[in-house]
Amino acid sequence: MLQLYKQKNFHLSSKLLEMLKDGGIKANFADLQVGNRGIYFLLPNAGVSKVMLYQAQIQEYLFHTKGEPLVHLCSCDESKKNFNHKDFLAIIKMDLRFFLGIYSHKIERKFFNDKPLRLCPQCSEILSHYQENLELFFKSAEKDYHLDFKD
Ligand SMILES: [Zn+2]
Repeated sequence: MLQLYKQKNFHLSSKLLEMLKDGGIKANFADLQVGNRGIYFLLPNAGVSKVMLYQAQIQEYLFHTKGEPLVHLCSCDESKKNFNHKDFLAIIKMDLRFFLGIYSHKIERKFFNDKPLRLCPQCSEILSHYQENLELFFKSAEKDYHLDFKD
């Protein structure tokens, strides 16, 4: 019985990881934890993954005044404020190309499937601890989660 339960959790976890690397998961449906060393997505098999966070749906007037949304990696002011906001996505995109929907009120005016977005300056500072290497940053999820929340 326990074995079956473990298998199910393992399966669900790999499914969720697939979703994170594919279209992402809406931040209001994801149970994210925002720490100094990353934004964490807890998996049902007790594993943990780091995710990126960005605003995937943006109002046209904001897009024109504030410009393109930035991608967040850890606890900056923006991610602390928006880690459960419905317009934000938790996602893993190593090539930093993202979906972006531009809205006027409730109507989608335009969208990009493959838009290159820049890292938030506050968040990108953290990469200096990982040899400026995103892969390395993501690989240290388990260790960093412990440093951020368990010690
Ligand atoms: Zn940020």
